[in-house]
Amino acid sequence: MVPKELVVCHLYGNLLNTYGDNGNLLMLKYLAEKMDVTFHSEIVSIYEPFDPNKYDLVFVGGGQDFEQLIISDDIQTKKETLTEYIENDGVMLAICGGFQLLGHYYMGAKGEKIHGIGALDHYTLSQDNNRYIGDIVIHNEEFNETYYGFENHNGRTFLGKGERPLGNVIQGKGNNSEDGSEGVIYKNVFGSYFHGPILARNKNLGIRLIKTALEKKYNEPLLVPKDMYATK
Ligand code: GLN
Repeated sequence: MVPKELVVCHLYGNLLNTYGDNGNLLMLKYLAEKMDVTFHSEIVSIYEPFDPNKYDLVFVGGGQDFEQLIISDDIQTKKETLTEYIENDGVMLAICGGFQLLGHYYMGAKGEKIHGIGALDHYTLSQDNNRYIGDIVIHNEEFNETYYGFENHNGRTFLGKGERPLGNVIQGKGNNSEDGSEGVIYKNVFGSYFHGPILARNKNLGIRLIKTALEKKYNEPLLVPKDMYATK
């Protein structure tokens, strides 16, 4: 059997890394190694080009409005290559601020317009003197999986064309506390407001990301030992 390797890009990993988001990488490494897959990750940050053909999985975390503003400029220089990666069915996990930046824009808490790359069709508004903070539970019908997490965001996101939610809100606020949606799935991009990190509490989602990425890379089914999956 050919040894398999998972090459991960931690996009803006030195700027977007709030609330333990980096733990998602630890979880990906843990799961990959359980599948006998070698794990490798590297940060691609400001002033560095993003190579759409180099990575099997891209992870981008959340951040404060301040960091998002800095990245908002730089990410425009990566707009084409990131869009190419996404349109080519590249696997991505984008949390909170990272999720917002994949869309058209985010109106920051001080009313500043923070431009995204519009690779996905959502946009994000702000709310006055309020944040959505607390435990959150969502259910994804397609996978019949329930995800547990913690949200902390000012932004209120509204999904657009071709986007479906990562799940429907059972408890908490989700994308906007209006339409019952939380997060996004677009092609192989998974976005969410879950911090904490999302994969540590939702192992099956991590397995899904790795499986999708490696099946695309090696063009053959990846056998995941049954006992790796969480059963509830
Ligand atoms: N600054 C953004 C907001 O408040 C994103 C926050 C985050 O990534 N936790 O909505």
